[in-house]
Order: sequence, then structure tokens, then C-alpha cells
Amino acid sequence: MTRPSVQLDLELAGLPVVVLGGGAAALGRIAALRAAGARLTVVEEQPSDAVRDLADRGLVDLRSQEPDDARLREAALVVIAAADGGTDGGTRSGAGGAADTDTDTAAGAAPADRADRLRRRAAALGIPVASAAPVGPVPAPVPGRGRVVLVGGGPGDPGLITVAGLEAVRRADVVVADRLAPLAVLDEVRPGTEIVDVAKIPGGNATPQEAINALLVRHALAGRVVVRLKGGDNFVFGRGGEEWQACAAAGVPVDVVPGLSSAVAGPALAGIPITHRTLNQGFTVVSAHVPPGDPRSTLDWAALARTGTALVVLMGVGTLPAVTAALVRHGLDPATPAATVADAGLPGQRTVRGTVGDIAARTAAEGLRAPAVTVIGTVAAFDPGGTE
Ligand code: SAH
Repeated sequence: MTRPSVQLDLELAGLPVVVLGGGAAALGRIAALRAAGARLTVVEEQPSDAVRDLADRGLVDLRSQEPDDARLREAALVVIAAADGGTDGGTRSGAGGAADTDTDTAAGAAPADRADRLRRRAAALGIPVASAAPVGPVPAPVPGRGRVVLVGGGPGDPGLITVAGLEAVRRADVVVADRLAPLAVLDEVRPGTEIVDVAKIPGGNATPQEAINALLVRHALAGRVVVRLKGGDNFVFGRGGEEWQACAAAGVPVDVVPGLSSAVAGPALAGIPITHRTLNQGFTVVSAHVPPGDPRSTLDWAALARTGTALVVLMGVGTLPAVTAALVRHGLDPATPAATVADAGLPGQRTVRGTVGDIAARTAAEGLRAPAVTVIGTVAAFDPGGTE
């Protein structure tokens, strides 16, 4: 795995850290601490969707109450990540503000007195306290300057966003970020940048696409530079085309910064070359968010079973049994190698290998969950020590 580009001053690998604040403003700091290997307890009554998602996946311990002294004493560091003594200024919002973030209520931010109290308790116990990310005045919108930059953030490791993508985030007035975006990059925004969490959680909360489109357009028309930060590439199952159309319809200029799609990066990070000269002459990327046979599916699974290319299945953890069964039914050898890579480029990355006949059962048995990509094809059994 690459080194995260967001560096913290402290060596935190494996150490317990308590973070006060789990709203959108805290997302970047939380993700950067995770990237540094800290074990996080996040104290927040109204977490942003992306933070709740991290908790649901067991990646942070989310609590509505401050830890008692016994627990606090175990912490190596306390981080105040929101509403630092009232200086937050309400410039960063949660998903609740997605439809109207101008009059931000600092949704999800911890009250300043709470921050002060935790600061004092930590100090009494001799635990270092890190201040919130710097906050500052909201940059004044400049009429006519507004635009939307569609930035592909790569698979999740903050080291895998492009230089251009990172620069765009650093210059943005507003960043509208998804759950799968490399959230640690949000720790790099300039003071005053508004962060909007429009996390889309499978089967859970989602800000409707129309609301996201309207948000992008409204901020841009007001003269703000808006970065739409997504995981992977915005045009690979990322609805970037729809957002562009909405902007174009409103006369908002759009720039595009391509990203490294998980379709390619996921296999690569698991050591699978998606093409290999002696094994295949191409790869096919499909979404399996609806299973074979579903009236909404436009894929020809019989043809996919015969392509001779590697198949990369996105959004397919839930439908993998149906997908693999369809491929075998249409003639794909059940012994064809397959691998599922979950959380590629994130601290919890895991890979399960098998065959198209058993990969669905193995993926389920190992408890792998979204986000995950499944590779089906001879390259899934790639051995760097081999000669083929
Ligand atoms: N625009 C994204 C894809 C969005 S669809 C891209 O280009 O990567 C969401 C799907 O992408 C997930 O269901 C999963 O299949 C895949 N995905 C995204 N990030 C991933 C990651 N870090 N590890 C594994 N799969 C990932």
C-alpha cells in the first residue's frame, strides 16, 4: 500500500485516540487519523453519514457521550475536531444542510463548552490535546468565478488521488464529498472551506441525486469553486455525467479531473494485474447493483461468460451468488479463478481468492462487505513468482 499523503506529526499507529466531533467538518481529520493507524473513538450525537458508515463497518467506535475518566485515561491523544471554542464559525456542514448550506447550522458539531470541558479533563489526566483543523472566514463568493470541478479521488488511499485532484481540493470554496471519496484528503482544505457530506450508504441514507445537482449548481452560481469529490473516477458508475448535465443546463462551467478507478486499482492493490500478456487481451467492467435476470439489468450475461476477458464486477457483494451462477450457467468454467478485494487502498483492505464456483460463498464466509470488487478470470490467480 502507498503511504498516505496526509501526514500527521505524531506516530499514532495502533494507539487509541478520542475525537470530539463527528460532523462533516471532522471527516478529514477522522480519516487522516485512521490512515495513520490510530484506533478511534468518535464522540458525536449527530454524526455525518460518512462517519456513521465508518462506525457501522466497525472502523471507528462511535459514542454519543464523552468517555468516562477510566476510558479517557487509555487515550494517547484527544482531538477536538469540531466547534473548537466557538471558532468553527459554522463553515462546515453535514448532510442535513445539503439542500441549503448557506445558513449552515454546523450540523453535527459539538458545542464549544463540551470541547472546553473535554480539554480540561484530558489536561488533568495528562493526555495531549490536538486542536481542531484551522478554521477561518468563509471566502467571499466572486460573481462569475463559480464553477464545478469533478474530481476523481481514487480508491480511498489519500496517496492515490492525482496531484491535480489534490490541488483542486486545496483551492476549493466548497467540497461535496461521498462516502467512498478519500476522506483524509479533506484534512487539506483551506480554512473556511465548506465540506458537505452527501454519503451514499448501500441500503441506507442517501442525499438524492437531484439535491446534489441543485447544491452544486447553487454554490457555483453564487460564485464559488465547488469540488465534487468522489471515489475512483466520477464517470465510472459515479453519476458524473448527470452532474455535468445539470451544471450545463444552468450555465455552470465544469472541469474534469479524472481519478484512478477502483475497477483497476482494486485488483492492482491486491496484486492482480488486470491484463497479463499470456493470460488475456482485455477486461470488462460491469456493475452488478441489480442481479442477472432483473428487469432493470441491461447486461448480456451469456455474452459476458464468453468474452475471454477478465471480468471486474463492481457493486456486486450482495448479488455475487446470482452473478457467478449466471456466468457458470452460461458456460464459464466453474474452476475459473476469481478474487474479491474489499476496502482496496483503505486500512482494512482484504482479499479473498477462489474460483467462480466458490467465490460468492468464500466472500460471504469471510464477511467481506462493500465496497468490494470481484475479479473473474485467469489473472485472479496471478503468481508473481510464476513464469506464465
Ligand atoms: N466511481 C467509483 C465506483 C463507484 S460505484 C470508481 O471508479 O471506483 C461503487 C463501487 O465501486 C463499490 O460498490 C465497489 O464495487 C467499488 N469500489 C469503490 N471503492 C472501492 C474500494 N476502495 N475497494 C473496493 N471496491 C471499491
